[in-house]
Amino acid sequence: MSEQIPIKVIPAEPKASKAIPKKVTIKPADDAGVGVYPARSQIYVRAVKGTMENIRRFFGFIFLGLFAAIPWIQYNGQQAILFDIPEQRFNLFAITLWPQDLTVLAYIFIVGAFALFFVTTFAGRVWCGFMCPQTTWTYMYTWLEEKIEGSANKRMKLDQRKLDFDKFWRKALKHFSWVGVALLTALTFVGYFTPIGELFIDFFTFQTGFWVAFWIIFFTVCTYGNAGWMREIMCIHMCPYARFQSAMFDKDTFTVAYDERRGEGRGPRSRKTTPEQLKAKNLGDCIDCNLCVQVCPTGIDIRNGLQYECINCGACVDACNGVMDKMGYAKGLISFTSEHELKGGTTKIFRPKLIGYALVLCVMTGLLGLDFMTRKPLEVDIIRDRNSLYRETNEGLIENVYTLKVLNKSQVSQVYTIRVSGLKDAVFIGEQQVEVAGGEVFSLPISIAMDAYDIDDAVTSFTFSVSTTQNDGTVVSVEEPSKFLYR
Ligand code: SF4
Ligand code: SF4
Repeated sequence: MSEQIPIKVIPAEPKASKAIPKKVTIKPADDAGVGVYPARSQIYVRAVKGTMENIRRFFGFIFLGLFAAIPWIQYNGQQAILFDIPEQRFNLFAITLWPQDLTVLAYIFIVGAFALFFVTTFAGRVWCGFMCPQTTWTYMYTWLEEKIEGSANKRMKLDQRKLDFDKFWRKALKHFSWVGVALLTALTFVGYFTPIGELFIDFFTFQTGFWVAFWIIFFTVCTYGNAGWMREIMCIHMCPYARFQSAMFDKDTFTVAYDERRGEGRGPRSRKTTPEQLKAKNLGDCIDCNLCVQVCPTGIDIRNGLQYECINCGACVDACNGVMDKMGYAKGLISFTSEHELKGGTTKIFRPKLIGYALVLCVMTGLLGLDFMTRKPLEVDIIRDRNSLYRETNEGLIENVYTLKVLNKSQVSQVYTIRVSGLKDAVFIGEQQVEVAGGEVFSLPISIAMDAYDIDDAVTSFTFSVSTTQNDGTVVSVEEPSKFLYR
């Protein structure tokens, strides 16, 4: 019999001292003594004013404004940016991307990923704190909550109170406004995939189709649930970025951090306490007011050091700077700083990892630009007739049959001219000029016939050339190699 390993039960502690006293309930352990988790408790985030909050609002307004305005922009009489899933194309102003243009999308994703790596290595999770939709919408929902239910303290008291008329109308109005924002968000988001003008008209006249209605409801529920109820759970437990961010951090990364050397020992004191008295009492600059915890959207105490829950939003920086101002101390007890700086050194900006990310970012951005610049608004595909290698015509000529697929990747109709080169005295049987509507594929059956005496080899290589002159006078031409078979 194998020896049993003794199990030591370590009771779970609440992670951080939350600003507002909360009911942290510990579920009882099961018989084996495992499965002990603190239940999630409500975080009543306190509003804060300061430089970081102003920066977040600035980015939030720009982000929201762009999100809401972009689908309404028109170009050449149609929606400028539209991911048209049924038609399998993506309109980007004058450019239309097709499934064949996967390289462009791959470049866009790679550029986006390396931009994120670069910014994270340089300034930590600032994307999360200032630009992420989850943060932007959560702040918007918290703002509505504060306007309707009051400050963090009032909200906590309201939640503890029994239901009365005042509580009922405040709660009802809050959820109504949350659902309203969620619905507008969902309509705008779906408007990136289906013409937004018609979408709004159809929705408010109850003529929306099943799938469109499904996605509107789906995104409404997601927005309402994520920003209204889940909030920090998304950042802490569901966002993959929170998990791999530490791989990008180094000792020179700017993150929100508490200056322990300056702040400890912490403790309350009067504003009039002199530096000598502070020294005698072994007190640092932290007055232990807990404001930095009360404003934290993820409910952590930054004084416990860098934690994966921290989204680098800087709310605690604003809160603590306000306290330092009132106490007459220098700002920056909590600040965006690096580990090196905290230990009394200097931050090294130009370091191999950051330079590496910057180089890859520049190269990939260059390749993306090149791809866009050299992109042709025309694609040609040649399919040989698979039923017969060749056939003999009534006139005694040797004939090969092909199907030409001409894809007009522009947004306007074009006339294309088709030619062949590389075959001696070849006879072209079929239309040599075709008009193809913008964004359409045209299939054209054609035959090439030759006199048997002019054919030297069993397989002769030749070229199809398809060209057009665009409205601005630019000639666009594509050449596709093919084979002529005999014997
Ligand atoms: S806000 Fe500043 S002074 Fe107040 S507890 Fe936090 S670190 Fe200490
Ligand atoms: S610790 Fe500070 S920076 Fe980090 S999430 Fe909380 S408030 Fe934001």
